[in-house]
Amino acid sequence: LRRNPGEIEFHQAVREVLESIGPVLGKHPEYAESKIIERICEPERQIIFRVPWEDDRGEVHINRGFRVEFNSALGPYKGGLRFHPSVYLGIVKFLGFEQIFKNSLTGLPIGGGKGGSDFDPKGRSEREIMRFCQSFMTELYRHIGEYTDVPAGDIGVGGREVGYLFGQYKRITNRYESGVITGKGLSYGGAQVRTEATGYGCAFFVDEMLKARGTSFDGKRVVVSGSGNVAVYTIEKIRQLGGVVVACSDSSGYVVDEKGIDLDLLKQVKQVERQRMNVYAERRGSQAVFVSGRSIWEVPCEVAMPSATQNEITGRDAGLLVGNGCVAVGEGANMPTTPEGIRIFQEAGVAFGPGKAANAGGVATSALEMQQNASRDSWTFEFSENRLQQIMRDIHSRCLNTAAEYGMPGDYVAGANIDGFKRVADAMLSLGLI
Ligand code: NDP
Repeated sequence: LRRNPGEIEFHQAVREVLESIGPVLGKHPEYAESKIIERICEPERQIIFRVPWEDDRGEVHINRGFRVEFNSALGPYKGGLRFHPSVYLGIVKFLGFEQIFKNSLTGLPIGGGKGGSDFDPKGRSEREIMRFCQSFMTELYRHIGEYTDVPAGDIGVGGREVGYLFGQYKRITNRYESGVITGKGLSYGGAQVRTEATGYGCAFFVDEMLKARGTSFDGKRVVVSGSGNVAVYTIEKIRQLGGVVVACSDSSGYVVDEKGIDLDLLKQVKQVERQRMNVYAERRGSQAVFVSGRSIWEVPCEVAMPSATQNEITGRDAGLLVGNGCVAVGEGANMPTTPEGIRIFQEAGVAFGPGKAANAGGVATSALEMQQNASRDSWTFEFSENRLQQIMRDIHSRCLNTAAEYGMPGDYVAGANIDGFKRVADAMLSLGLI
C-alpha cells in the first residue's frame, strides 16, 4: 500500500488474488523463497506520456497516456487500451494485474499489460477521435511490437479507434506488422469472432456454470449492464442460448424491455448512431421503459451479467439480486463486483464467474488473431467460434477442478486465481531472477 499510494483499484485487485492463493503458497514454499508475490505485484515497466491534440475549433488539449507492461513471463504483454476520463495509473495497474492471470488461464502464450488515457471520446467528432488516436500512437509505437507488447480495445476503444491506431503505427514505422495490435477490422488483418468474443465467451462460461448445476439459459430472465462491445454480444449469445435479456444500460440510465431487448434496434442506436439509452426506449414504444439515477440491479432476474465497468455491483446490489432469486453471475466487465458483493453471492450459493475467467474469451480470441497474423492465414467464423467455445469450456473446468483440489469446491474465484497464478509463477521460477 505504501509503495503505491492512492491506487485504490489496484490494491483491491491485488488483495483479491492474494486472499485466494494462501493454500498454494503453503504447498509451494519455493514461490515465497524467490519472492514471486513481490515480483508479480511490481510491473516490469510503466510508461506515462503526454498526448497533445487539437480539436475541430483549433483548441489544444493535453491528455495523459499510459502503458503498464506488467508481466511477460508467458509471452508478449497483452491487454487493451481504455479511453475514459476516469483513467489514471491505479485503474491501468488493476487492469494490467488482472490481465496477467486471465491471460495465463487461457492457456495461450501471452503476458499481461494494459494501457489507455484519460481522454473522453464522448461528443467528439470522427476527426477529433482520429487526431487523438494518431497523437497517442506517436508515442506508444516505440514501446509496442508483435514480440514485445500487443494492445487491443477496451472501454472507449473499439474497431474505429483500433483502425486509426494501427494506421498511425504503420505510417510511422513503415511496417505492415499486423500482429502489433488486435481487434482490427476484417479488411486489414482482423479475425472473425474477435468483435463478438468477450460477450459470446462470457455467455458460454455462464452456460457451463449453469450446466454444472443441472440447468441452462433456456427461458431464464437475464439482466446485462452496459450496451458497449461486451454487453451487445453477451445479449446476442444469450438469446441464441434461449435466455431472455430484459434490461441493459449505459452511464445515463437503464432500459427495461419485458419482451426482451430488441438487438437490431440496440445495435442501430448504440453502434451506428452512438446515441444514449433513452433513444432506444423512445423508438421501441410503450413496452420499453427508460430509468435514470437508479441501479439496474433492482430489476429482478435469474442471471446477472455485469458488462459495463468496475465496482458496479455493490453489496446492496448483490443483496437485491440474491433476494430476487438470482442464481448465477457472469462478470463480462473487469472487477464489476465489490469484495462485499462477491461475499454475499458466494454465501448465498450463487454461481459466481469472476471476470478473470468469464471474460477471458476476448483476449483468447485476440491471441487467435495473433496466430492468424503470424501465419498469414484467416479462419472461418464457425471454426473460430468453436475454438472460443472450447477455450471457455476448458477455463471453466480448470477453475472448477482447481477449486476442488484446493478444498474450495464451486469457488470459481479461488479456482481462477490459483490456476492463473501457478502457471505464471512456474514460468517466472524457470526464467530465473528477472
Ligand atoms: P465499451 O466502451 O464498448 O462499453 C462500455 C459500456 O459500459 C457502455 O455502455 C458505457 O456507457 C458503460 N460504462 C462505462 N463506464 C461506465 C461507468 N463509469 N458507469 C456506467 N456505465 C459505464 O467497453 P467494453 O464493452 O469493451 O468494456 C466493458 C467492460 O468489459 C470493461 O470493464 C472492460 O474492461 C471489460 N472487458 C472488455 C473486453 C473487450 O474485449 N472489449 C475484454 C474483457 C473485458 P457509456 O457509453 O454511457 O459510457
